[in-house]
Amino acid sequence: SKVIVLDKRPVGTPTLSDFKFKNEDIVDLKDGDLQIKSEYVSVDPYLRGRMSDAKSYVPPFELGKPITSGIVAKVVASKNKDFQEGDYISGILDWKEEQIISSEKIKEIRKVDANQAPLSAYLGILGMTGLTAYLGLTEIGKPKEGETLLVSGAAGAVGSVVGQIGKILGLRVVGIAGSDEKINLLKSEFGYDEGINYNTIKDMKAAIKEACPNGVDIYFDNVGGEISDAVLFSINKFARMIICGAISVYNETSVPKGVSVQPFLIKNSALMQGFIVSNYQDKFPEAGQQLGQWLAENKLTYKETIVDGFDNIPQAFLDLFEGKNKGKMIVKI
Ligand code: NDP
Repeated sequence: SKVIVLDKRPVGTPTLSDFKFKNEDIVDLKDGDLQIKSEYVSVDPYLRGRMSDAKSYVPPFELGKPITSGIVAKVVASKNKDFQEGDYISGILDWKEEQIISSEKIKEIRKVDANQAPLSAYLGILGMTGLTAYLGLTEIGKPKEGETLLVSGAAGAVGSVVGQIGKILGLRVVGIAGSDEKINLLKSEFGYDEGINYNTIKDMKAAIKEACPNGVDIYFDNVGGEISDAVLFSINKFARMIICGAISVYNETSVPKGVSVQPFLIKNSALMQGFIVSNYQDKFPEAGQQLGQWLAENKLTYKETIVDGFDNIPQAFLDLFEGKNKGKMIVKI
C-alpha cells in the first residue's frame, strides 16, 4: 500500500520533491483495530505550516513520517464491534492508500453517513472548511443585517461558504479572488453582490472603495498580505476583521513588511482577531446542524475541485497556491 511522507522541509514555495512515495505492508489486525481504505483526501493550505518546523498551533510533520490531513475512508476489515466492513469514517489520517486504525486511535475518527451527503462533503461543507466559514463569521464577525461583508480568497472552500452565509444573514457581500472566471462564479453560484479580481486590478484600495461604497463592516480574511493591507483603508467604525488565513504569505521566507495596522484599528475602534477553528469545538454540533439544515433547504450550495488518484495528492496541494481550485480541493483515491 502506498504512503506519502515528508522528505524535505520546503524553503519558500513547496515542490513535489519535498514529498516521497513509499510502500508499506499492511500488518494483521489486532483486537479492536480497523483496516481502512482512503476514498477522499483533503488538501489544505494550513498543511504548509506543518511542513516547516517553526512553532505553530499544530505540531510540525516529522521528516520521513506520513503527512496527515482530513480523509474519508472505507472500513475494509474490522475487529472492532462498533464498526463494520463497508462503514465510512473520517478523521485526520495518514496519506496512505490503506492503513490500520488502532483501538487507541479510534476515538479520533467518526462515522460518516454516505446516504446523508456525498462522502466528499464531509471534508468541505460538512467538515472543517464549512465550520470555519460559519464559526469565523458568526463568532468574530457578529454580523448585523444590512452590513457590508468583504471576503478574500472568496472562491475557495472557506470563502465560497462565508459569502453565502453572509447573504443568508442579510449582508451585502463582496468577494476578492484571482480570476474573472472566479468572480463570475462568486456572483452566479454563491450570491456575492460584487467581486474584485486582484490579479487584474491595479489599485486595490480604489477597487475596494468602489465595491464597498458604505465601507467594510466585516472583513473575512483568508489571504493576508497586500490585499488585506488595502482593505484597512475602507473599514468602518467598529469593523470586525476575522484573520482566518494568510495564504499569500505562507511561502515567504522572511516576515513581510506591510501597512501598520494599529492606526486603522484605533481610528475605527476596530477589532482584528485571529481565528482557529479547533478552538470552537464545543460549537461544532450546533454549527454542523445549521449548515446541514441550510443545505437541505437549498439555501447553501458548494463546489468542489476533485483531482483523481492517490499519486496526485502532492500536486493538488501545490495547486492551492496557484489558485487552481474553485471551492474545496479534494483528491479522490
Ligand atoms: P482555498 O480553497 O481558499 O484555496 C486556497 C486559495 O487561495 C486558492 O484557490 C487561491 O485562490 C488563493 N490564493 C493562493 N495564493 C494566493 C495569494 N498569493 N494571494 C491571494 N490569494 C491566494 O483554501 P481554504 O478555503 O481551505 O482555506 C482558505 C484560508 O483559510 C487559508 O489561508 C487557510 O489557511 C485558512 N484556513 C484557516 C482555518 C483556521 O482554523 N484558521 C481553517 C481552514 C482554513 P485565488 O485564485 O483567488 O488566488
